[in-house]
Amino acid sequence: MNVYTSLIHHPVTNKNGDVVTTSITNFDLHDLARTCTTYGVNQCFIVTPNPAQKEMMHFIKKHWSEGYGSQYNPDRRQAFECMEVADSIEDTCLTIQKIHGTHPVLVATSARKAKKAIKFEVLRDRLKEDSKPHLLLFGTGWGLAQRVLDKVDFALEPIDAGTGYNHLPVRAAVAVVLDRLLSV
Ligand code: SAM
Repeated sequence: MNVYTSLIHHPVTNKNGDVVTTSITNFDLHDLARTCTTYGVNQCFIVTPNPAQKEMMHFIKKHWSEGYGSQYNPDRRQAFECMEVADSIEDTCLTIQKIHGTHPVLVATSARKAKKAIKFEVLRDRLKEDSKPHLLLFGTGWGLAQRVLDKVDFALEPIDAGTGYNHLPVRAAVAVVLDRLLSV
């Protein structure tokens, strides 16, 4: 299985539907690092074109991989090994393509139903049978921009517990999605 995750800070929408760049949140990085490592994700890309934000991500990663944090908490050092930063979704795809020799299959996630829907069990089987890399895209702000949804190969069905409310924090969404797709 070759599963990659990405947290998209651009292009995402804000409350008014404008396409914006959101800020990196420290605890997203820590929670995604631990969750992605637990489920054996190849790499988790934090996607932002903003130089200061990328610098901050490098600083945090270095602290936990090489700095004082790596001695203080070796488990966190291990978790941060899978964390990468990328300028864009296109750059992320190029990095994955260099590793596998093929463009990743792009899978969007959203709390809303979208076109090109794929069910959890179908994607789970596909991941077992297909060694092609798959990149799961998670949104920030008000979610992935429409131009991202237009480009993906699949949109994973929303997590829905039937309560009428399903707007999960992205950290919880990543954990639920990975557990449904990759748990043994
Ligand atoms: N600042 C917010 C937070 O608390 O994390 C970011 C919200 S962002 C729109 C949440 C992202 O988590 C979505 O873009 C999607 O990737 C994922 N997500 C949230 N709820 C989901 C659901 N019910 N099913 C699938 N993915 C979901």
